[in-house]
Amino acid sequence: MSKKDVSEKERLCISCQKCCKEIFVYTHPVLYSCSAETIVDFYKARGFDVSRLEEDAIILSFKHTCPHLTPQGCDVYENRPKACADYSGIEDFGDDCLWSTLKLKKS
Ligand code: SF4
Ligand code: SF4
Repeated sequence: MSKKDVSEKERLCISCQKCCKEIFVYTHPVLYSCSAETIVDFYKARGFDVSRLEEDAIILSFKHTCPHLTPQGCDVYENRPKACADYSGIEDFGDDCLWSTLKLKKS
């Protein structure tokens, strides 16, 4: 890939890499046979960051560096999963997603 083929989002993601180092998982008490409070306590005790959303949805987040991430960046970048190319970190990282600054500038 030549430099001019790199989109603005790709350029920002390459310099940010948050999505390659942290995982967010959405879950909901309806999937469990215990209360939301019990679920939150369960995951907090295991070192997850836990947030509650409206209607009892729960977000679990934990640090996990993708095994494909090297000091030079993604070692499968040309063939990275489509989810990696399409993923918007804005929903999970908010203003900490560099791409969000670009989107804000354009809106
Ligand atoms: S947080 Fe945003 S800028 Fe950073 S890697 Fe994820 S999508 Fe890209
Ligand atoms: S495959 Fe590449 S782009 Fe996807 S999470 Fe891993 S290092 Fe990041």
